[in-house]
Amino acid sequence: MFNDLKDKRVLITGSTKGIGLAAAQAFAAAGAKVGINGHRHDASLDKLAAGIAKNGGEVAYFGADVTKSAECEALVANFVERFGGIDVLINNAGGLGGRQGLENIDDEFYDHVMDLNARSALMLTKFAIPHLRHAAKQSGKTTSVISTGSIAGREGGGPGASLYAASKAWLHNVHRNWVKEFTKDNIRFNIIAPGTIDTVFHADKSAEVREKIAGSIAMGRFGTSEELAPSFLFFASHACSGYITGQILDVNGGQMAP
Ligand code: NAD
Repeated sequence: MFNDLKDKRVLITGSTKGIGLAAAQAFAAAGAKVGINGHRHDASLDKLAAGIAKNGGEVAYFGADVTKSAECEALVANFVERFGGIDVLINNAGGLGGRQGLENIDDEFYDHVMDLNARSALMLTKFAIPHLRHAAKQSGKTTSVISTGSIAGREGGGPGASLYAASKAWLHNVHRNWVKEFTKDNIRFNIIAPGTIDTVFHADKSAEVREKIAGSIAMGRFGTSEELAPSFLFFASHACSGYITGQILDVNGGQMAP
């Protein structure tokens, strides 16, 4: 079923670790041409790309700080220069950006969280659209934008994470608009909304807090990045999901059923 991912050109932001890295590994194993990204420019990340490609596909690292619009533009241009186009954009880079209660939120914190989770996805999608449109026209199949949303975008987020949660709800909603604007171009937009996934995202939590959270999940445990990866492949594959757009897939072990 996933055979149509072979040679597909897939750009995944924030993919040097965690959820993005697991997705990159799965796409490469399916024979895709994968661009991995982090904000650092460092030769060790070229080695990471080469290591992923050992299981198949072609993988290259592109350093870019996606909070900056100019770097989003350069990231898309560099990826296209290397692979000749884009079939799938995955807006995965994101994060809490710290925790602040409402009364401590200032302009700097607001910009930091919104740039990381909202501006990044908006600008990357903007710069990728002409390439996605062109690839869809050439292939006669849909191309795809997939963004990593969050359970927080559904339920408001944990303590101090109001802006993070709001930025993910923003992302969930802006996709709905893009469906209206770009379905005529054969581009699909879907969200994967993870629950609590065991990555460095949760590094600030004590064992006690982790246990409490695990207890709130029907499956009684955090998810793994590897358990999320197949959902990205599903939305990227025209054969699997060519008639699915504007949807949010919650991958959360039963933590919430919206
Ligand atoms: P992670 O911290 O393990 O990985 C984040 C990745 O983003 C890294 O590769 C990092 O280098 C990259 N990154 C960070 N800032 C960047 C920037 N400015 N420019 C480019 N790259 C940047 O996090 P994760 O848990 O794998 O999270 C991935 C996505 O999943 C995020 O959007 C996050 O909000 C979302 N998410 C995570 C969870 C969870 O429980 N882990 C839950 C819901 C949503």
